[in-house]
Amino acid sequence: MTDSLPPQSLKALKDAGVFEIAWPDGQTFRLPFKLVRCECPCASCVDEITGVRVLRAESIPDDIRPVELGYSGNYALKIVWSDSHASGIFTWDRLRRLCELTQK
Ligand SMILES: [Zn+2]
Repeated sequence: MTDSLPPQSLKALKDAGVFEIAWPDGQTFRLPFKLVRCECPCASCVDEITGVRVLRAESIPDDIRPVELGYSGNYALKIVWSDSHASGIFTWDRLRRLCELTQK
């Protein structure tokens, strides 16, 4: 799982507060907005040297939502959040891993 294909569809369901992501292998997952926001991999959320997450979940509002979705090449999703954070790039690998981690 080092080279995930892009999702077949990716929707932000604002009423449910989740992303619905359908992968090319037919699996569909729902990821809560807040969970994805908390997993932001950018340099202001994760210490670049130690790899330790400096973002605290308590600092993220419960009603966090994406205001804009964009693609970075064909390998990642760029999300502009309602807390105006916009520097996180979520690769398909990362999203897929999150999907699998959160599936019970
Ligand atoms: Zn970030």
